[in-house]
Amino acid sequence: MKKIATLGQMHDDGLKLLKNYKYSIVNISDYSNNNLKDKLKDVDAIALRTVKLTKDILKECKSLKIVARHGVGYDNVDLNYLNKEKIALAITGSANAVTVAEHVMTMFLNLCKHSKTSDQIVRSGQFDKKASMQKDMLELYKKNIFIIGFGRIGKTLAKRCVGFESNVFVYDPYIEPNIIKAENYFPVSFEEGIKIADFISVHLPLNEKTKYLITKKEFSKMKKTCIIVNTARGGIIKEEDLLWALKNHIIHSAGLDVFEQEPPNKNNPLFNLNNLILSPHSAALTLECRKRMSVETCSNILNYLSKSPNLRLSNIVNREILSFN
Ligand code: NAD
Repeated sequence: MKKIATLGQMHDDGLKLLKNYKYSIVNISDYSNNNLKDKLKDVDAIALRTVKLTKDILKECKSLKIVARHGVGYDNVDLNYLNKEKIALAITGSANAVTVAEHVMTMFLNLCKHSKTSDQIVRSGQFDKKASMQKDMLELYKKNIFIIGFGRIGKTLAKRCVGFESNVFVYDPYIEPNIIKAENYFPVSFEEGIKIADFISVHLPLNEKTKYLITKKEFSKMKKTCIIVNTARGGIIKEEDLLWALKNHIIHSAGLDVFEQEPPNKNNPLFNLNNLILSPHSAALTLECRKRMSVETCSNILNYLSKSPNLRLSNIVNREILSFN
């Protein structure tokens, strides 16, 4: 009987699929290295949320054939080791783009409408304070939205911005400009996008090229009314420089779902700012999306282990080094 480990809570809709196939499921909640090494040593597959799977742990997993991420980022798994051992790495490529895009829209709209302050002034009996708030309340209508990274989430966000009659500008050096133009969006250079944007949203992986992509230098070139949101990975925007830009009103405001350190230190100076909204890396955690991610994670495992033609190959990150004969 095949043995599947789940690391982190997953919706029952996916787990039911595994149970139907009479796979044995081991739910692990103690993430200490020793326990992981012990419990994972004979599993065929791991369904993984955010626990870190280092080489040290993975090399004890002697029967492992697939690690299936519940999500699309995979910076918590040693991919080099998986490649070397020809172990598949799967992601839930079709589950969460809409949900993250909606989170960005939520942050954009909350920031430009001062939703947090509006709620506070009504509750505290300061109704007339709206006069001081209205001077920089903004709209998305006809504004320039600069999307950095035109993958699953970037593309999904672009469609939603068009619904607001905004102009969509895109920077992604790995996508042909014609593909961007074909959707009636405008391909631009990074520098140009930073200058003309009213709203910026980043949708790229964190790596040596994207770390600190946005620093004081970029903030200095942005419009004073610019709103920026990061739902991708902490560290793409340099937090120390964001603090400077928000404190000195170099830009209008910002929204962060991800942080350089997670969870962030509770004394993080960003928390003292009013022109910033935060969420706890929850952009993809709606009920609907958690169901889809759980089902897609478990389907990736089932289809891969049973060599099913239903396997969505685009979900296998290292498909090029595996053989699918
Ligand atoms: P994706 O792989 O579909 O798209 C990423 C895009 O970034 C690609 O088109 C790629 O060409 C582009 N890119 C790479 N390097 C670039 C660079 N230097 N400059 C510009 N573009 C570059 O990924 P996705 O599914 O759209 O996810 C985007 C990010 O969102 C990832 O970091 C992912 O981990 C994160 N994410 C966060 C959450 C959350 O809960 N907050 C949920 C899902 C995804």
